[in-house]
Amino acid sequence: MKKYIPFAFATLLAGFGLPAMAQQNCEVTVESNDAMQYDVKEITADKSCKEFTIHLKHVGKLPVAAMGHNWVLTTSDDVEQVAQEGIAAGADNDYLKPDDKRVLAHTELIGGGEETSVTFDLSKLDENGDYMFFCSFPGHSAIMRGEFNIGDATGTQPRT
Ligand code: ZN
Repeated sequence: MKKYIPFAFATLLAGFGLPAMAQQNCEVTVESNDAMQYDVKEITADKSCKEFTIHLKHVGKLPVAAMGHNWVLTTSDDVEQVAQEGIAAGADNDYLKPDDKRVLAHTELIGGGEETSVTFDLSKLDENGDYMFFCSFPGHSAIMRGEFNIGDATGTQPRT
């Protein structure tokens, strides 16, 4: 009986290892800076991901009150309105109207040297939908925005 234990243990380890290897890449990192820019203009999330995670880094030095950045996901049609109402909601609300149903996902607002992340349910989004991400800090959304797609593999397009 004893001699079967190491074999069973190895099988158990292999069993844990395989699903991890088959798993899709369901996260991306987005950098933002003191020049009011994200480093990506387009994000594609693999449609087989149930959940998707955005890691937002602020690689600048300016404080959140001067150059705050967040990552907000809405449909393309809702960007302008959500951004406008976000400015009205003020800094205390991270420049987002509280409980705004048009906001599909968002990170907190961060300043230079900080990082944050958000994980959201990708399966509830429409594969053929038209989505965009942007920063809701006043004045930023005109430049800090990009396309969010759902496709066959996770990836990003750099800002040019
Ligand atoms: Zn910003």
